[in-house]
Amino acid sequence: MGFEVTDKKIIIIGCGASGGTAAQFARKTDRKASITIVEQGKYSQYSKCGLPYTVSGEIPNVYDLIEYDSEWFKKEKIELLLNSTVSDINTKSQSVTIQNDTETIEKKYDTLIFCTGAFPFVPPIKNINTNDGLADNVFSVRTIDDVKNISSKIKKDMKATIIGAGLIGLEMADCLYKKGLKITIIEALPQILANNMDEDTLQPILSILTEKTTLYTNHIAVQAKQKNDKVTSIIIQNQKDSKQQEIDTDIVIIATGTKPNVSLAEKIGCTIGKTGGIVVNQQAQTSLKDVYAAGDCTQYNNSINDKPTLIGLGSIAVRQAIAAGINAAGKSYELPKGVLLTRTSEFFGIEIAAVGLDSNASKDIPMIYAKLKGSSKPPYFPGGEPIVIKIGIHEKTGVILAAQAVGSNAAQRINTFACAIQNKVNVEDFRKLETAYAPPIAPTLDVITLVCDIASRKFKGKNR
Ligand SMILES: Cc1cc2nc3c(=O)[nH]c(=O)nc-3n(C[C@H](O)[C@H](O)[C@H](O)COP(=O)(O)OP(=O)(O)OC[C@H]3O[C@@H](n4cnc5c(N)ncnc54)[C@H](O)[C@@H]3O)c2cc1C
Repeated sequence: MGFEVTDKKIIIIGCGASGGTAAQFARKTDRKASITIVEQGKYSQYSKCGLPYTVSGEIPNVYDLIEYDSEWFKKEKIELLLNSTVSDINTKSQSVTIQNDTETIEKKYDTLIFCTGAFPFVPPIKNINTNDGLADNVFSVRTIDDVKNISSKIKKDMKATIIGAGLIGLEMADCLYKKGLKITIIEALPQILANNMDEDTLQPILSILTEKTTLYTNHIAVQAKQKNDKVTSIIIQNQKDSKQQEIDTDIVIIATGTKPNVSLAEKIGCTIGKTGGIVVNQQAQTSLKDVYAAGDCTQYNNSINDKPTLIGLGSIAVRQAIAAGINAAGKSYELPKGVLLTRTSEFFGIEIAAVGLDSNASKDIPMIYAKLKGSSKPPYFPGGEPIVIKIGIHEKTGVILAAQAVGSNAAQRINTFACAIQNKVNVEDFRKLETAYAPPIAPTLDVITLVCDIASRKFKGKNR
């Protein structure tokens, strides 16, 4: 401790992406405030997004994920209490109770920021646990210790079962495949990457998954069989005909989503939304005065249909944390009214990206969709890579509301659409966008404008 203490006391609970960022921006805003981060784990801010790539070995050292270490916080005069848990909060006395191995202390705050993140959700699979939690060879992917344990258990030719074919499940499938494991993926829904991508854009990924893994969609993992505290097989059930089959396995990865960690916030009376996240506004303020929240523990409206959405993306966590840090330190910073949910990943060498809602989630909005398969380079230039691109526009206004891409530079192409969606750009204007052209890089008319030509024709047809 021992820093210069000024009037303003800011306490941040959690030192993940949002906690560390909030502290950083609070410090930039107020050079003298007393800022404390309380983190129950043993590591300071690290990139969870990089965790799978330590398993594949693309990131050789798991500790390289630590973005800001204890020394960095010390230099910034931010007090970082590791291995310390906030166990209680008294809003009347504006103080938190902090417990570590040896002592319990009370600390006062003027402003408090919840950055408590989320827990991995484990679906009810019979016999997946032992008395001490998950069986020895069953893992979620949320922490440095999770991936250290996974890496210590895997060997070439082992059988890995991944439960959940969302972004993290597929990233883990790819990373374990790179280590020579035989992969089976179990997905309860009829399609992979549900809530992220439409099925009709996913053909390139499905082809490669079918070639390199065994993929069961529409199947739920119902039961595990164990020997010596290890799961040896998973029984899966077809959702259509209820037929069961047994999948032998050496390791199980559970990637079935997360639940926001809101118990303390709920206890002190912060409004919890229907998604289960802490409700925050454009200033990252909760419903309580002087209490802010950011990251995976929060809910915020998406800007497409204004419905509350859980924040499960690091990109958004960091942006909310900037607002929380600055506002908690006494200046003013406002986030856009809603999030665009711009997202990306890569599996088995194929890049995917999307912005806005998938077509299932935007069923209530009258939409026109257009899809195009193009190439990243002009046809005469060798090495062009295929790109599938799909956009959704509002049926009545022509404003672009969603885009998905699979293939070359998907993320950068989707970022251009993110800019259009944020600024409510009409497809008629976007199709005239002057994109950069040079034969080794991109065609004269990029797929992002060509797909708008198709959408525009459909739009004019409908609104004739
Ligand atoms: C494998 C993986 C890959 C991902 N890939 C991407 C990606 O490519 N792109 C993307 O945008 N997002 C990605 N994400 C999501 C992104 O990592 C999260 O959105 C982000 O880490 C959330 O940060 P956070 O600070 O809100 O929560 P967390 O990082 O979970 O931090 C919360 C912290 O609070 C601490 N804490 C909780 N309660 C207490 C308490 N009472 N006292 C003290 N400390 C407490 C916890 O120990 C934890 O360290 C990925 C996530 C995972 C797991």
